[in-house]
Amino acid sequence: MTNTQKSGTVFLVGAGPGDPELITLRAWKLIREADVILYDYLIDDSILQDAKGGAVLVYVGKQRGRHSMPQDEINKQLIEYAAANQCVVRLKGGDPFVFGRGGEEALALVAEGIPFEIVPGVTAAVAACSSACIPLTHRNIASSASFITGHEAPGKKDTDLDYEVLAKTSGTLVFYMGLHNIETICENLIKNGLSGETPAAIVEAATMPQEKILTATVATLAQCCQEHQCQPPGLIIIGEVVGLRRELTEVAH
Ligand code: SAH
Repeated sequence: MTNTQKSGTVFLVGAGPGDPELITLRAWKLIREADVILYDYLIDDSILQDAKGGAVLVYVGKQRGRHSMPQDEINKQLIEYAAANQCVVRLKGGDPFVFGRGGEEALALVAEGIPFEIVPGVTAAVAACSSACIPLTHRNIASSASFITGHEAPGKKDTDLDYEVLAKTSGTLVFYMGLHNIETICENLIKNGLSGETPAAIVEAATMPQEKILTATVATLAQCCQEHQCQPPGLIIIGEVVGLRRELTEVAH
């Protein structure tokens, strides 16, 4: 793709889980060429330092209870900059289409006929499991993995999560945005039949310098989270694969 084809296009780009070395080559190239970069919370500063001189950098991050810009306004800015023939990078944590409202942004672009491209990124669940030496799947232990939101849209009356089904799967469960609801999540799983003895972990700030990994069981995980004052960003990982970490870390570190 040449530069002329890039102007007027929005690139929804995954920046990966935090460690700047885990960004893709394609993402890095686009960051260097962009006229405008709208970036999220958790994007490492060193990534933005590669933007070209004169590029417009706009922080549009969201933290729990603190949104620097409403979603509608983010969509509007993407559209306006692209309509002004700019090469726009919308830089998002992890993968653009795993939670984080990338799908909504893409739909807003389609509605306005704005050309766009999605650039995949390493999503937090994949990064956290590998970084913590927890195989997300394992031939004999977990044949599936589920990525689940632990924080559903505010104002939603009932949960869309079917805890009965989640509790029955022998696969790995990974909850995003779940630290504030950790007690409810673990209780619901146990109530629906998952053994309280099932190994469980919290990975906070995966792949970042302050990464923290805690292991417990589903029955004790919430207490463990409280005792260690876990803070977002963090993932809850539940399943027998968590039990492999001990053996793997004996030689991996
Ligand atoms: N699109 C992102 C997810 C956005 S939702 C992705 O693909 O990873 C934001 C949530 O992702 C956080 O609340 C947290 O649960 C998780 N998360 C993002 N980065 C993380 C990290 N480095 N370590 C642990 N969890 C992370």
